[in-house]
Amino acid sequence: MNTAMRLGKKSLLAAALGLLALAAQPAMAEERAKDLFGAKKLPAATAAQSIGFYSKGCFAGGVAIPMDGPTWEVMRPSRNRRWGHPAMIAVIEKLSRDAAADGWPGLLIGDISQPRGGPMMTGHASHQIGLDADIWLTPMPSRPLSTAQRESMSATLMVDEKTHLVKDALWTPQHTALLKRAASYPQVERILVNPGIKKKLCDTVKGDRAWLRKVRPFWGHDYHFHMRIGCQPGSPNCKAQETTPDDDGCGKPLAWWFTQEPWRPNKNPDAPKARDVMTMANLPSECRAVLDAPGPASAEAATYHGGAVPVAVVASEPEAPAQPVSTVSGAGDLPSAANAFAATPRMGAPVPRPRPPAN
Ligand SMILES: [Zn+2]
Repeated sequence: MNTAMRLGKKSLLAAALGLLALAAQPAMAEERAKDLFGAKKLPAATAAQSIGFYSKGCFAGGVAIPMDGPTWEVMRPSRNRRWGHPAMIAVIEKLSRDAAADGWPGLLIGDISQPRGGPMMTGHASHQIGLDADIWLTPMPSRPLSTAQRESMSATLMVDEKTHLVKDALWTPQHTALLKRAASYPQVERILVNPGIKKKLCDTVKGDRAWLRKVRPFWGHDYHFHMRIGCQPGSPNCKAQETTPDDDGCGKPLAWWFTQEPWRPNKNPDAPKARDVMTMANLPSECRAVLDAPGPASAEAATYHGGAVPVAVVASEPEAPAQPVSTVSGAGDLPSAANAFAATPRMGAPVPRPRPPAN
């Protein structure tokens, strides 16, 4: 074999290796969706839209619930998970007011979603399309919590870990009233609670029990409950969940939770979770546009200042080209330019809104 030939073979080999590297590149470059979505600090500044399913999707036009309201406080603020579809944020604020009127001092708000949803770095399989929220089962303390306290304060464990029954010393009629109030909203399709809490409701709720249908037992959910609303108008690619059965759910399905079976140790505890391995290819293709969409000027510009219906949830208006979002100075002020995040002035006038992401 002469030198030229050997060189030729070598360069062929190099070329082949190069091709291999190229071929391998898409797989290697296929970043995990949780890294991409977890890195987004601000929402996609387009019309509000949930895309995909609760555990496999993303959302655009998210708004943040303010860190404090008269009847709520956001917990674990450093996680930056106080974002949701405007309809979700509106429901949380409404619940906080109604619950306060019912005798619950105020809501401590846990995770809602990341600014653009998607899988999270830690915790939660769902919470991906801006329609899920965790609310603590601990009432808001009378004195305002500092930022440090919101990061460190523990929630109250409401359920005995051995018996899976509610700790009777901790459960109050106000807890029941809070869950009933949350279940009373037509947007709320499902509330997840620990089986012990479901059992407590089944055993104690008198009179109207129809709302128990929405309250579903699930592992965890013993420090907080999980409130899920349905797909909202303007979200054609939002995948609805199955409707809950018609009965109160207090029979056989609940009894199963008080057998050994649901509590057997996981046979494969180290198996990767779906949210850990999902790539963009696993999410609806529209989520790429959500990821790439411009954000608002600041978190404040995309903070929901309640009372008015956010422009983004007004469903049937002519589409306008996407515009950068401008800052709104505060609740009650007229927005300097109409955008998906501005509070709608209370005048009933149609306001132009940005166009939803492509497709
Ligand atoms: Zn949750």
